[in-house]
Amino acid sequence: MSKTWTQCLNTLKDTIPLAQYSVWVQPLKALEDGQTLSLLAPNTQVKDYINKNLKSQIKSAVAQHNKQLKIFIGVSPNVDQKPSAYKPQATPLFEDYTFDNLVLGNANQMAYGATKQIAENIKGSPYNPFIIYGGSGLGKTHLMQAAGHLAKTKNPNLKVLYVPLMDFVRNITSSLRHNTIEDIKLFYQSADLLLVDDIHLIAGKEKSQEEFFHIFNFLFNGKKQIIFTCDQPPKNIKSLEERLKTRFSQGLNLHLTPPELEMRAAILLKKAQDQKININLNEDVALFIAGHITSNVRDLEGALLKLKAFVDFSKMDSTMISKEVVEAALGDLIKPAIKNIDVNDIQKEVAKHYALTVSDLSSKSRKQHTVLARQMAIYICHELSALSLNKIGKQFGNRDHSTVIHAINKIKDKLLESKETKDDYDLIKLKLANL
Ligand code: ADP
Ligand code: MG
Repeated sequence: MSKTWTQCLNTLKDTIPLAQYSVWVQPLKALEDGQTLSLLAPNTQVKDYINKNLKSQIKSAVAQHNKQLKIFIGVSPNVDQKPSAYKPQATPLFEDYTFDNLVLGNANQMAYGATKQIAENIKGSPYNPFIIYGGSGLGKTHLMQAAGHLAKTKNPNLKVLYVPLMDFVRNITSSLRHNTIEDIKLFYQSADLLLVDDIHLIAGKEKSQEEFFHIFNFLFNGKKQIIFTCDQPPKNIKSLEERLKTRFSQGLNLHLTPPELEMRAAILLKKAQDQKININLNEDVALFIAGHITSNVRDLEGALLKLKAFVDFSKMDSTMISKEVVEAALGDLIKPAIKNIDVNDIQKEVAKHYALTVSDLSSKSRKQHTVLARQMAIYICHELSALSLNKIGKQFGNRDHSTVIHAINKIKDKLLESKETKDDYDLIKLKLANL
């Protein structure tokens, strides 16, 4: 094996999606003679794919490690290149995607429990197919693969096939070209547990849908477990055959939602201890980051990596990660904390936002719109000013401290329930941060 290529593989592993990396890049054989790095594909299909889709990434990885080397991409002479030798590829499970590495919280409790139960009892589960759906970066692939790992631990002879949907489509396309569609079907039908990742991508791909329907029925009738992930409830997928929708909705469909604050902080704390990151976070700082990065787990991981790079490159003592360090490291991801803002400024911004006057906020008016604005202003004063509840009440027409608490609780609830209120709140805060 060429030394340069071994280094390149490490780079490519981080720049190319895992599925693509393991299916197309890993099988390449590399020979190096000081001037040329020859990358030999097992067949022309792989060679063509590399030339078309991955050549530029490979080129820049090679240039990073050895600028002088020319690259030649060919087919390995030792391997049978007849089209009929084309074999579908299964993607290995990602080692880290186990139940042990998953943090449990409200957001994934149901899905976690169901997945575990299914994996522990793969042959007798009533939940077939099982579909985990939700937005990107929320842990669908991780959870699905955790089922694969656990099922395999319980029963090492079990055949677990993990298939990112686009690999399935690619396999179908190639097998049509090579006239090996039956082989492909047999391959997938040999699974005891079939894990199909991102099934929504099958939308609009008619031939793949047709073949998938047969494979699905075969496995389902043979009482083999099938697990899917999807970015939305399958019944909502456009351009998906009705018969597939019907099959999918026969099973258990569970929603994975974004993690709540404490879960996000717990994920940060767990990942910070991971060997790959290995930085010292305390709970306060984790909560601080989690308070700002609310979208999904992948973004939390991105933030941790950025923080790690900052700590490593600035050669600071990694036991000293404070909120200020986090602000410096994460820049735009963490908007500067706004504190001690004057109550008058808050009242002005809130009144302006709701097209009211400042005195409306202190008035006795019970109009719904005015009440909402008043409660919002009180909530933000509580959050950003240094005033006590009593003093805040005084600033809003001498209201007492229980009214202030009531207002705070109202907005707290509304921020969770109403996107409109959340948008109002974010916008006002943004304005206050930029005063
Ligand atoms: P999805 O498939 O929903 O887009 P992934 O399964 O790829 O998301 O997850 C994105 C990243 O977040 C992965 O690195 C995964 O390990 C991590 N992750 C997601 N949920 C959790 C969790 N509950 N605990 C720990 N890590 C998680
Ligand atoms: Mg995924």
